[in-house]
Amino acid sequence: MIATTQATPSQFKSDPTAGFVRKVIHPLWAKRTHPAYARYLREFERNQYLHPDELRDLQMRRLRQQLVHAYRYVPFYRLRMAEAGLTPLDIQTHEDLRLLPILTKRDIQDHQDVLIASNVPMSKRERNQTGGSTGSPLQFYVDRERFDSRMASTARHDSWAGWRPGDWTAWLWGSLLDTGENLPATPPWRQKFLYRKLILNTASVTEEGMLQYINLLRRYRPKYMVAYAQGAVLFADFCRDQGIDDIRFESMILSAEMLLPGQRDMLEETFGGKVFNRYGCREVSVIASECEYHTGLHVNADALLVEVEPSPNLPPGMGRVLITDLLNRSMPLIRYEIGDMASLELTQCPCGRSLPLLGPIEGRLTDFLKLPSQKLVSGVALLTFVVAHLREVRQVQFIQRDPTHVTLKVVAGLGYGAHTEQELRQRLRPYLGEQIDLTIATTDHIAAEPSGKYRYVKRWDDNVAPTRVAN
Ligand SMILES: [Zn+2]
Repeated sequence: MIATTQATPSQFKSDPTAGFVRKVIHPLWAKRTHPAYARYLREFERNQYLHPDELRDLQMRRLRQQLVHAYRYVPFYRLRMAEAGLTPLDIQTHEDLRLLPILTKRDIQDHQDVLIASNVPMSKRERNQTGGSTGSPLQFYVDRERFDSRMASTARHDSWAGWRPGDWTAWLWGSLLDTGENLPATPPWRQKFLYRKLILNTASVTEEGMLQYINLLRRYRPKYMVAYAQGAVLFADFCRDQGIDDIRFESMILSAEMLLPGQRDMLEETFGGKVFNRYGCREVSVIASECEYHTGLHVNADALLVEVEPSPNLPPGMGRVLITDLLNRSMPLIRYEIGDMASLELTQCPCGRSLPLLGPIEGRLTDFLKLPSQKLVSGVALLTFVVAHLREVRQVQFIQRDPTHVTLKVVAGLGYGAHTEQELRQRLRPYLGEQIDLTIATTDHIAAEPSGKYRYVKRWDDNVAPTRVAN
């Protein structure tokens, strides 16, 4: 059932410019900068209502194309398939895919050069990187056209929460890679007439910053919030503490971090709108999202093939999430183990979309370091834009044993040395400030939690972290 707590449209400012941006400016901009976007958006909007058999056929067709491409042009996969005694012709069904070995983050770190397709020119691909939810930084390549199709997938999934191009959106985001650094308080003309995002960087946020942000929200009255889940919770707690009750959203699209039990209700009560959970990552962008029925997360199945690999250590139905990107050619990810646990829901969603449903995502929780000033610093932000660029760092974990002492545990990769430590200190200092005593210690191994997941931030006043998304 659709809940009735949604804010009424009258609470939001009428915005005649939104229609103009949606119908004129955004399409012109997209045509120039993302030429394949409109074509993919039309296709994806159609695909979501395909008959399940047609959707499966489409996936299989795209999978075969990707496998043939990988076999011909990507040395890593050619060797992997040869070692397994396979050619792409041996993969005729979804089940056959299980004959192929799993691609781990370690594989990507160790074999990056031979994972790049030889037939995609540099001009048609871009480098990207991630901190990842496991603390293992990764670098990878995305086709320029794939950026367009990723943008189209995101637009489709955002539309389920009611968003359309031209609508103002409040962004509470922890990664400066996505938002750009030092954004001015008043958005410049591109913000006003195109992007229409009010951005609060939750990687490091002060009370003063929050109050400035509230003033901006009062001025622009965005209908939608896009946020790191824990960033949204932090902001909601702040509003409640300050007795601020006039910040309302129609929908809140939450991603990158887990929502803990009770937090969804708290957010919906504080801001009046509905929470739409989103599961995604930098490697493949949006993986799955909730629709207006909130029965699970619909997989972005026309661009990705998501498998849930059962494991004897997990409850029945639950498994490790493996992702195959069906459209990215420059560095294909095939059966990529992203590091999360989830279950596939076999039920049909009442919305009529045939995109399969994922159940709760287990084992995704981003923590914050707590500075002596009480400022919170997002661990995912530190990983994404401080550590992820360093190839000689294989894995990290931040341990904060009291308000002023942080140890960064590092599993060193090739080329690690004193210069790397110096670089890490230099990069972390602006986020941690002068009062934190930072120790960097190398280690052979960072142990997983009993849940099987790695935590990359541990804090002295942490309780045992719950590992389930509240749905
Ligand atoms: Zn649905």
